[in-house]
Amino acid sequence: MVGILPGQVKTTTHTAPFAIPHFVRTTERFWFFSLHESKARFMNGLISRLRQLRQSDQAIADAVRETLVESLYASPRSLIIGALTSSAITATVSIVSRDRAMVICAIAIAIVACIRIADAVRLELRVPKRATPNKAPGRRREIVYRVGALCYSALLGTFGLLTLLNTSDGVLQLLAVTTTIGYAAGIAGRNAGRPWIALVQLCCASLPLAVGLIVSLDVLKIVLAVVIVLFVVAMMDITLQTYSVILKATLASREKAALAEHHAAIARRDDLTGVANRTAFRERFEARLRALDGGSQWLAIHWIDLDRFKEINDSFGHLAGNALLVCIAGRLNEAFGSAGIVARLGGDEFAVVCEIEHRDAANSIGHRIIELVERPVDHDGRLLHVGASLGIAIAPADGADADTLLKNADLALYRAKDTGRGRMCFYEPLMDEKVQRSRDLALELTGALERGEFHVMFQPIFDLAGERILSCEALLRWTNRRHGPISPAEFIPIAEDNGLIVAIGGWVIREACKAASEWPGDVQIAVNLSPIQLRSANLPMVIMGALAASGLPAERLELEVTESVLLDDIDASLAALNAINRLNVRTTLDDFGTGYSSLSYLTKFPFQTLKIDRSFITDLDQSPASVAIVQTVIELAAKLGMRTVAEGIETQAQLDQLRRTRCDAVQGFLLARPISASMVTSMLAGSRLEANGRS
Ligand code: C2E
Ligand code: CA
Ligand code: CA
Repeated sequence: MVGILPGQVKTTTHTAPFAIPHFVRTTERFWFFSLHESKARFMNGLISRLRQLRQSDQAIADAVRETLVESLYASPRSLIIGALTSSAITATVSIVSRDRAMVICAIAIAIVACIRIADAVRLELRVPKRATPNKAPGRRREIVYRVGALCYSALLGTFGLLTLLNTSDGVLQLLAVTTTIGYAAGIAGRNAGRPWIALVQLCCASLPLAVGLIVSLDVLKIVLAVVIVLFVVAMMDITLQTYSVILKATLASREKAALAEHHAAIARRDDLTGVANRTAFRERFEARLRALDGGSQWLAIHWIDLDRFKEINDSFGHLAGNALLVCIAGRLNEAFGSAGIVARLGGDEFAVVCEIEHRDAANSIGHRIIELVERPVDHDGRLLHVGASLGIAIAPADGADADTLLKNADLALYRAKDTGRGRMCFYEPLMDEKVQRSRDLALELTGALERGEFHVMFQPIFDLAGERILSCEALLRWTNRRHGPISPAEFIPIAEDNGLIVAIGGWVIREACKAASEWPGDVQIAVNLSPIQLRSANLPMVIMGALAASGLPAERLELEVTESVLLDDIDASLAALNAINRLNVRTTLDDFGTGYSSLSYLTKFPFQTLKIDRSFITDLDQSPASVAIVQTVIELAAKLGMRTVAEGIETQAQLDQLRRTRCDAVQGFLLARPISASMVTSMLAGSRLEANGRS
């Protein structure tokens, strides 16, 4: 615009050097006003942008400021090159001029340059590019930079001024002016991230030159002074524009980074409970393991599995189950989240990792976890109760890497669950073998029925005189292709755990009925029923199917259940037992006297027979207390109209003791071991022959 304007005016004035035509004067005035106006508008705009800058700069977040301050140090190389070249030139100019003030100023420039270079290099070495941006607080770094930058540009401006005032050598003046202006131009772009620093540097370096040029009263120099002032204004505008671009880019990249961070945090959180998920747990656990100093500090991992959670879910619905998980996760997080790691590993499994100094601490943490989990959870006015089983492994004793530790904590948990609910178990090296065997057996159980690996043995139950077989108890046997014969005491709990017991137990009922149908009509058959079977909805169908297929009258079948069944869900057990009775099938309360025996069960539940546990019979010949208990139980059962069977009789003394009571039947190795169905048949035939012979 400035270039076009004089050209236009000149061509017009050329034709009439003395009398300026009216239209030309008008045009000139127009241009003059329009130039004046646009300049004023430009200046007003610049001033208002400077004001806005002041306000907006104060309002930017610390983190953004930090990034902007970092941009000051982003290229130490440019700072070093700038400082070295301008120091070298000012030194040369001052030496050639032999002016004292200029020499002093050049020395000051060199000193400040050295300090700034040292500062930039120090930061470059300490902060490896953004890796730890928070180490040096932004504001302090900014102040340090600002002081250095302002001193330097003010000294450079002063040096230029001194050169213009104290020397008359055009070359020296040219060197000083170009160096300073070059520096000022560079700074406007380089430091635009902190615009106030850039603007003040620009003014401090350039304006003294303009002053020096004006006071020389040389027309050309005054023109140059005007150019420098215009240059400063233009550079200010460029600085502000660059700043707004940098600020926008910084804000956008921070927003993107914050969003990415937010997504990463969500991906590491368990959706339902908000505690760490499996991925996050793994990462944090591994980090903690790496941080173990190998000294006094240990890391305990508590692997938690909720007891009875499935029942809550099944009985009260998923919402209740979810509320329970959320509440328990919250409690664990509150207790251990700040110092340790709390995570949900899936379903109803949680993990708590804490630093400990001795094994006892892991024990106390375990107790605290059980206590927190056992506290009832209020959901819609209903109190939900669950328990916790815990497996504990301790690093580094139980494993140095995450995989081993997690595997060992899992083994310990498996063991804890095996021993009952609400238990905790520390990992022990021997566990590997035991648990491995349980897992192998669990795998082998699948398909064992199809492979024909099961058979049923029958243990006769006699009348008290030991003369007549009243019934036989069906006892399942498993001979596995790999592990050989396995005791039901070992494999039945495994089959209960994986649910296979329902199919296997159904098969036992059918086999037992089939065998018994070959025996005389007055011999009963007793079949053991697992709690899982008792609760399965199709049990009556299974029983009816077995009876129909074998032709065995329902009255000849007896089903034995242990009293632990009754504790879990009284109403469901009662309903199932009544359903069995309605089929005319009788029920026996097995192992009476173990667990939480309560005489009230006898009145509450529809049992026709009571089987006194082997532990009382074993004690019969030594403990008068056992005699009294057995005596009392038999009397009570008789009063309630129930038959009694004493099981596990191994000695004649035990049998003799029992013969002094009104016990109805006896079972034990002394009388007969479990035998095959055909042996029972021949035994029955023999006893009949004997009986017939006697009669
Ligand atoms: P249980 O119902 O108490 O069965 C009696 C167990 O005591 C049997 O062990 C039997 O062999 C054993 N026994 C009988 N007389 C004596 C004796 O005088 N001395 C000693 N020491 N033991 C004696 P078994 O066959 O090993 O069965 C163990 C448990 O496995 C059974 O205890 C029962 O709870 C379970 N079980 C066996 N078969 C089945 C089945 O078909 N279904 C279910 N659900 N459980 C079964
Ligand atoms: Ca039994
Ligand atoms: Ca028993």
